[in-house]
Amino acid sequence: MTSALQKNRPDTAFGFDNSYLRLPQNFFALQAPTQVAEPWLIKLNVPLAEELGLNVEILKRDGAAIFSGNLIPEGAEPLAMAYSGHQFGHFVPLLGDGRAILLGEVIDRNGQRRDIQLKGAGQTPFSRRGDGRAALGPVLREYIISEAMFALGIPATRALAAVLTGEGVRRENVLPGAVFTRVAASHIRVGTFQYLAAGGDEDGIKALADYVIERHYPELLAAENPYLALYEAVCNRQAALIARWLQVGFIHGVMNTDNMTISGETIDFGPCAFMDAYDPMTVFSSIDQHGRYAYANQPGIGQWNLARLGEALLPLIDVDRDKAIEHANAIIKAYGERFHAQWLQGMRGKIGLDSAEDGDLEVIQSLLALMQAQGADFTLTFRRLSALAGDPGAESVFAATFREPAATAEWLLQWRERLSRDPQVPADRAAAMKRANPAFIPRNHRVEQAIEAAVQDGDFSLFEALLTVLSHPYDEQPAFAAYMEPPKPEERVLQTFCGT
Ligand code: AMP
Ligand code: MG
Repeated sequence: MTSALQKNRPDTAFGFDNSYLRLPQNFFALQAPTQVAEPWLIKLNVPLAEELGLNVEILKRDGAAIFSGNLIPEGAEPLAMAYSGHQFGHFVPLLGDGRAILLGEVIDRNGQRRDIQLKGAGQTPFSRRGDGRAALGPVLREYIISEAMFALGIPATRALAAVLTGEGVRRENVLPGAVFTRVAASHIRVGTFQYLAAGGDEDGIKALADYVIERHYPELLAAENPYLALYEAVCNRQAALIARWLQVGFIHGVMNTDNMTISGETIDFGPCAFMDAYDPMTVFSSIDQHGRYAYANQPGIGQWNLARLGEALLPLIDVDRDKAIEHANAIIKAYGERFHAQWLQGMRGKIGLDSAEDGDLEVIQSLLALMQAQGADFTLTFRRLSALAGDPGAESVFAATFREPAATAEWLLQWRERLSRDPQVPADRAAAMKRANPAFIPRNHRVEQAIEAAVQDGDFSLFEALLTVLSHPYDEQPAFAAYMEPPKPEERVLQTFCGT
């Protein structure tokens, strides 16, 4: 049945409205995707397509051709964006989209402008020695984890589609090739500003900053110094974002400045992973040999990256360089305080506090120290604590999360004593805690199992099941109880790979 809305929709898949293309020409390179042999649509994210106002019927019919890059939809003006980046602390003046191609932008149902980008769509002028392609495993990984982040309520780029190309890609072995369609508030990164700053292009920096303000921070147009206000706003969004990462045990894995957005969305789900047992020094990425991007280092790395953004923005902040530095320094210092406040507030929620007291940090830290010493699973600890808040009978289940259950007694006393001064009634507290503490996260071993079944056997059922469970991470879902479990020792995944 066709609804009135569908009838009025134009006969094209996307109503593109491309604004990045109107920026100066050195910001990008026009580049069409490279055709693939035999595209096959693995998955189309229908709710997201609807949110974007796309024509779902056309996408269902032509999705394999469109999302592989074989068919350029009407209105698309494909381009690869230029950017620089600090990779593991070393500046690379020219990175850019080496395998990603922006098809164009659409205005979604909420009036927000969103980028639609194909990742793995062939070589571009920025490919250096890369083949411009993506393998199936990393495509499924990004699909699962970015959608899980969204369902957890954490700003992230989205997954619109995944296709198989019917071609092999050469990595250590030959792997099935795939293309991932990413949707982002925009793909502008800290590294995009660095690229213009490195080229001494002050007009370009201003054009990009003006564009970003209009697109992501229109409320700042009226600020006394909009560029300083922009810097502060980006720092605030990143402080809030990284606090959220820590609260769900997320480790990004490759927080280079080219992988940090200006919009405040999590981007680039290469070697990222969620930790099981709590250990602040957890690192999964095979290429992060010195643990630069370990779980607990993320807030500090965020600050380091934002300092690089501040450097690029200096000429806009004040004509007097010393004054500009002084202003930028005040903001980067405030980022640290802001992060801490955001993190503490979120952690209060995770242990069931609706009020604030000076000693709360200590209560939180002593739980974390106990979890670390006792090898407790991060996600299960907080989920079971949520149950305990509403039902004193749940104590043994909570305590069993720790290697020595009896070791929890002292902390539980401390917690209950603090709760006695918190206004919430137990049932409300337990309900609020369940909304703050997910039951389901994309556990590494589950993600790997889903990828393995798809890559080895062409079986996408585990991928689909994971997407289903992770779309409601805060609900009980008894049929999927096994997905809450940490890995058995033989299932543990210790390393993740970039997959480039
Ligand atoms: P990433 O580590 O995914 O953030 O990528 C870092 C840089 O390498 C970016 O400029 C990517 O576009 C580029 N890159 C990654 N993989 C490939 C590939 N297979 N072909 C071409 N460029 C790539
Ligand atoms: Mg990247």
